[in-house]
Amino acid sequence: MDLIFLGTSSGTPTRDRNVSAAAIKRSDSRRWYLVDCGEGTQHRMLQADLSLQQLGGVFITHVHGDHCYGLPGLLASATLAGRTDELLVVAPADIARFIEAVRAISQLRLSFPITFKDVAESAGGIGTADFDVAPVALSHRVPSYAYAFTERRKPALDTAKLIADGVPRGPLWGQLRRAETAMTDDGRVLQRADYLIAGGRPRTIVVCGDNDTPALLTAAAARADAIVHEATYTSDVQDKVGPAPRHSSARSVARFAQSVSLKNLVLTHFSPRYGDDTDHPPSIADIEAEARREYAGNLLLARDLDRFRLDRMGRLTRVAQATASGLLT
Ligand SMILES: [Zn+2]
Repeated sequence: MDLIFLGTSSGTPTRDRNVSAAAIKRSDSRRWYLVDCGEGTQHRMLQADLSLQQLGGVFITHVHGDHCYGLPGLLASATLAGRTDELLVVAPADIARFIEAVRAISQLRLSFPITFKDVAESAGGIGTADFDVAPVALSHRVPSYAYAFTERRKPALDTAKLIADGVPRGPLWGQLRRAETAMTDDGRVLQRADYLIAGGRPRTIVVCGDNDTPALLTAAAARADAIVHEATYTSDVQDKVGPAPRHSSARSVARFAQSVSLKNLVLTHFSPRYGDDTDHPPSIADIEAEARREYAGNLLLARDLDRFRLDRMGRLTRVAQATASGLLT
């Protein structure tokens, strides 16, 4: 599974960071899913080589503008790109009104249908081609959600059993992958169901919206390989700002992650006051240092256009960062 960060700043963009958006996809597929769509997300999509034709669904965590103002423009561009496939949009119900208002006022006619699902009524989960997605209610100034993406694993052919039954590698294996039955040269009918094995443990990545109470993720964390969570401030700044914005500090998220023995924690959604230059504090390094004091697992701090990969062993690593001129590896 791959995670590509399209925006990692909270509230407003900075010169290096756009507002919230992240892409999640299978590593072997071009189809991808978008979580949040702050203004300017389209530009980051182009830089990350993510196609509007391959967009499998959009998941909005909450109605704040830095998480959704890019959505109307994205829909308009998908129309200009000639998209005809229906698009799944999962979001708080007000996002449907937001889309409808912009469509009416700007006379936007979409070339594809939208299937809208109200996240508040999707507690049973949402199925997509690649992932089963479960929402988790969080705590913020407005209703906010996390989305737990669990990969759908296709059953694999039990090739050892096929060989043992006298069916060596060849066209019959392909037939069994595509059809319920296949016939051998000597007239035996093979039933696909007899030769399927489960595809292994499915992996889960949880991508969170804004949230001041990480413990709400306790149940989701129990089966999560990785959690992406906001760390808007360091705790000293949060103490000065006060609780009104309803955000998390690096310390509170890291303590939670440690308490549930989370394997991989990705922090994002940093206040614009934190730059990358450690000579001009406060910096992102301060957020990282605070989190490392509390959390002994695998900690990553997202930058725009970072691409992280979760391997089969459940280890999340940074595999590349894209630039405006293309992907670096
Ligand atoms: Zn936000």
